[in-house]
Amino acid sequence: MYDYLIVGAGLFGAVVARELTDAGKRVLVIDRRDHVAGNTYTERAEGINVHRYGAHIFHTNDPVSWKYVNRFAEFNRYTNSPIADYKGELYSLPFNMYTFNKMWGVVTPEEAAKKIEEQRQEIKGEPRNLEEQAISLVGRDIYEKLIKGYTEKQWGRQCSELPSFIIKRLPVRFTYDNNYFNALYQGIPKGGYTKLVQNMLSGIDTELGTDFLKDRDALRARAGRLIYTGPIDAYFDYSLGHLEYRSLRFETELLDIPNYQGNAVVNYTDRETPWTRLIEHKWFEFGKDEDGNDLPKTVISKEYSMDWHPGDEPYYPVNDEENGRLYREYRQLADREKDVIFGGRLGEYKYYDMDQVVSKALEVSHCLTVPQN
Ligand code: FAD
Ligand code: UDP
Repeated sequence: MYDYLIVGAGLFGAVVARELTDAGKRVLVIDRRDHVAGNTYTERAEGINVHRYGAHIFHTNDPVSWKYVNRFAEFNRYTNSPIADYKGELYSLPFNMYTFNKMWGVVTPEEAAKKIEEQRQEIKGEPRNLEEQAISLVGRDIYEKLIKGYTEKQWGRQCSELPSFIIKRLPVRFTYDNNYFNALYQGIPKGGYTKLVQNMLSGIDTELGTDFLKDRDALRARAGRLIYTGPIDAYFDYSLGHLEYRSLRFETELLDIPNYQGNAVVNYTDRETPWTRLIEHKWFEFGKDEDGNDLPKTVISKEYSMDWHPGDEPYYPVNDEENGRLYREYRQLADREKDVIFGGRLGEYKYYDMDQVVSKALEVSHCLTVPQN
C-alpha cells in the first residue's frame, strides 16, 4: 500500500513525487503515456533533443524554482529570441526596437513611442479584448502583421473574442533587446527535459501506459491519497459538460542539411500559412551534440493548432469566461473529494508555465509534509 498515488508523470507530478518521497512517504506515479515528463518530453534523434510536444524553454524570475530544477540538470544559456515571418517579411520578437525599426523605419525609442501613441488613439477606454489590448500596446500595424493571424490560428477564434491577458504575456520594449521573456533566469536542461524528470523520479515507483480513468477503483485502492494532474473534467466523467481546450499537431521531419532556418523558433504570423510555429530543435542547444561536435543533420517540427475534440490531447486550457465558470463548478466538486488533490495545467485548468508548475508543486508538497496547526 502506498501513501500517495500520483496520476501524471509531468513536471507537477514529478516534483510532488520527489518531495513526498524525500519526506518519507511511499509514492506510486502512473502515466497513461509510455514516457515520463508530460508535455516537456524530449527524445533523441541524430544527437538532437527533439521537443515532441512543442518548444519548451525554462524561464523564471523565481530563484526558488530555478534553484530547484538546477538540482536535477545543468541548464545551458539559451535565450529565446524567435523571429516572426509575415509573408516573407522577417521581424524580431518580442516587440522591441528592432521590430519597430523594421515596421516603420524609426530609429529612436521616442520615434517608436510616438508612432504607437498615434495608432493606439483608436482605442477608447480600457481594452475589452485581445484585439483592443494589442492595438493599445503596439498599434494597428503590428497587430495586423504580427498578432492577428497568429492568434486566430492559435486559438481558433477572433481576437475580439479572446481575453486580453493572453497578449500581455509578451513584453513590449523600447530597447534593442530581443529576449522573448522578461526573466532573470532562462535555459534548456542539458541532455533534455526527459533526463531532468527521470532524475526527479529516481528511485520512485513509476508505471507507464496506465490510464487512471480506465482502472480507477483498482488503482485508487493502492494508495491512501491521490494527486491527480489530468484534466479535471475527465476526472468527473464530464458530468457538468466539457471544458474546452486547444489541441496541437506536430509534423516532424529529419533533414539531411545542417541548417534549415538559422534559429530555434520562427513564428508564421500570417493567416494563410497553416502552421503557427516552426521549430528547429538543434538550435536550443547551439547545434552541438553533448560532446560539443557540430551536428550534420537537423530536425524541424511544424506546429499546427487544432480544435479539440474528446479523445484528442488537451494542450491549452481556453481561459474565457464560459470555461472559467464551468471550471469553478468543477472546482467545487473537487473541493468535496476526500483525500484527492488536483494540480498542474490540466488539473487546475490554468495556463501555467513550467516554473509556475514547479512553484505550485513545491507549495502543495510543503502543505502535505509539514504539519499544519
Ligand atoms: P503535463 O505535462 O500535461 O503532465 C500531465 C501528465 O498527466 C501527462 O503526462 C498525461 O499523460 C498524464 N495524465 C493525464 N491524464 C491521465 C490519466 N487519466 N491517467 C494517467 N495519466 C494521465 N512552459 C514554459 O515554461 N516554457 C515554455 O516554453 C513552454 N512551452 C510550451 C509549449 C507548448 C506547445 C505547450 C503545450 C506548453 C508549453 N509550456 C511551456 C507549458 C508546460 O508544458 C507546462 O507548464 C507543464 O508541462 C505542465 O506540467 P503538468 O505536470 O501540469 O502537465
Ligand atoms: N502571439 C502573437 N504573435 C506571435 C507570438 C504570440 O500574436 O508571434 C500572441 C498569441 O495570441 C499567443 C500569445 O501572444 O497566444 C502568447 O504567446 P506565447 O508565445 O507566450 O504563447 P505560448 O508559448 O504559450 O503558446
